[in-house]
Amino acid sequence: MHLEDIIRRKQKLAEDPYADTGQNAPPEIQQAVQRWKELPEQKRLDTPLLYWLLGSGTPPYKMDKEEAQYTNNSEVEGQVCHNCEFAYLKISNKKFICSQISGEIKPSGWCRLWKPQKK
Ligand code: SF4
Repeated sequence: MHLEDIIRRKQKLAEDPYADTGQNAPPEIQQAVQRWKELPEQKRLDTPLLYWLLGSGTPPYKMDKEEAQYTNNSEVEGQVCHNCEFAYLKISNKKFICSQISGEIKPSGWCRLWKPQKK
């Protein structure tokens, strides 16, 4: 990459830090990034892009709760959403979402996709 290209890219990123985000991703992800960019500013501040993509941004990529056999109260010893690799907590509203299934989840929940958190 030439120096002029690097400078141009840095200027572009200074204007829009998400300018290159998702450019090599599948079309649905690119569209989800675009939908996030078009949200009102306050909504974007309340919903970080990663949370948007993992949450409401990419429903076609997620399994529904029934198919995943999701339950709000795990009956499998030692396996709950709270210690699963795929659970995310949105700090601003303290709600949990999952990168694998649609909708909100409970820390006490479980589904057949459970996987231990990486250490
Ligand atoms: S994959 Fe299943 S067990 Fe893991 S966080 Fe998501 S819903 Fe919970």
